[in-house]
Amino acid sequence: MTQTTQNEFKIMFWGTRGSLATPDIQCGKAGGNTICVEVECGDHVIICDAGSGIRSLGGKIVSERKYKNINLLLSHAHYDHIEGIPFFAPMSSSEYCVDIRCGKLDGAENTFEVVGGFMRRPYFPVGPEIFMSKTKFHQLEENQSFDISPEIHVKTIPLVHPGGATAYRIEYDNKSFAYVTDTEHSAGETNYDIVEFIDGADLFIYDASLSDDELPEFEGFGHSTWQEGLRMAQSANVKRYFAFHHMPFRCDNALDEIEREINAQMPGSGVAREGYSLVL
Ligand SMILES: [Zn+2]
Ligand SMILES: [Zn+2]
Repeated sequence: MTQTTQNEFKIMFWGTRGSLATPDIQCGKAGGNTICVEVECGDHVIICDAGSGIRSLGGKIVSERKYKNINLLLSHAHYDHIEGIPFFAPMSSSEYCVDIRCGKLDGAENTFEVVGGFMRRPYFPVGPEIFMSKTKFHQLEENQSFDISPEIHVKTIPLVHPGGATAYRIEYDNKSFAYVTDTEHSAGETNYDIVEFIDGADLFIYDASLSDDELPEFEGFGHSTWQEGLRMAQSANVKRYFAFHHMPFRCDNALDEIEREINAQMPGSGVAREGYSLVL
């Protein structure tokens, strides 16, 4: 059982794979589950995105019985960020309160529609009426800030992604975690909104789907590169940077190589892998 000491600010990766789950043997070290990150701030738990990794996290939350109120922050509604919602065990129990937040997305009126829109025929057998938890759906305005508790402050900015996406910066106990995925940049053009947003963050995780060499081939898909993440981390004086949202074709040996290059420039930084945790 994982223990969080008082005021501990702890991040754990439950899914780091972007686009599609990748349970291939040659990807086993980084893990194959899609996007899900657990953020524990003292006695609160916040979850960033609900890809397939949220299934195991839900199992842990139910067995530990430590949290009854859960805050789920969705970056957007692409499948790799929401497909785990129906399999998140706390939502099948009336003991839990789940607050789900999402920014405005093309094609969905509100956050309830983001979830209900894919939990319906012909995509899924049952709708959100199966949930037993006290579930609240919140719609975020662009650049909205909000508090999860008097000690936990969250800022947001919109990202450059087809249909829209939102980045979150969680601040607690004088430390900060910047969660920035999915977003596209054009080669040679830094997104200064992001640089400002992540300024001085203790931990910054970023859409590192691609490499600079691959970027032109994927124009319009809404993704960025591990090198761009590193450049922004350095210019924003971030303390630790982890490349995140690995493409299904990025196997462990390639990720190890990326990690060596990141680590050489920013010691203590690297590549996000499932099951890895950090205390800020
Ligand atoms: Zn994604
Ligand atoms: Zn996406």
